[in-house]
Amino acid sequence: MSLLKIYSCYHPVLKKPTEPVTEMTPELRTLIDDMFDTMHNADGSGLAANQVGVSKSIVVIDVSYYEKKQYEPIAFINPRIVAVSDEEVDFEEGCLSIPGIYENVKRPKAVEVEYLDINMQPQRISDDDLLARVMQHEIDHLNATLFIEKISPLRRAMIKSKLKRIQKGDIDKPYEMIIK
Ligand code: ZN
Repeated sequence: MSLLKIYSCYHPVLKKPTEPVTEMTPELRTLIDDMFDTMHNADGSGLAANQVGVSKSIVVIDVSYYEKKQYEPIAFINPRIVAVSDEEVDFEEGCLSIPGIYENVKRPKAVEVEYLDINMQPQRISDDDLLARVMQHEIDHLNATLFIEKISPLRRAMIKSKLKRIQKGDIDKPYEMIIK
C-alpha cells in the first residue's frame, strides 16, 4: 500500500483538463491501487488522478459504505457523462483538495456515464443517488472544475477566509498535501 500526496485546489494541476488514457500499463494499475488507498486513508468517496498530481483521465470511487445501493469500488478510465436528468437536487459536497469546506451544490439528480474499466473494456453505469453525485464531482475534476466554482457568489464570499487559509497551507491536514 502506498499513500500519495493530495494536491490542493491551489495547485495548477487541478486547473488543467486531464489527458485521456490510451493504454493500460502496470504503472497506471499501480497508480489506481494507490489512488484507492489514498482515498480510503483520507475518508473520501472519490478521487481524481489530477488530485494526486497525475493529469490523466482516471477516477476512483467507493460508495460501498452507502446503505441504499451496494456498489463495489469502481475505477473509471476516460469517464464521460452521456445523459443527465432534468431534475436537479442540492447536496452538500466536500473535496479532499479543499479540506474543511462543505457546501451545497445543485446538480442533476441522475446521470449516465460511459467509461473504460481497468481492462480498458467499455462500460456504462446509471445512478440517481450518491454515486451519481460523486461521479459528477469527480468528472468535473478531470475537466478542471471545482465544486466551489458552482456555489453562489454569496456563499463563496463567506468561505473566502477559509480558502485563504488553505492557500497559505494553514490547515489541519489529516493527510499529506501539496498546496501549490
Ligand atoms: Zn473533489
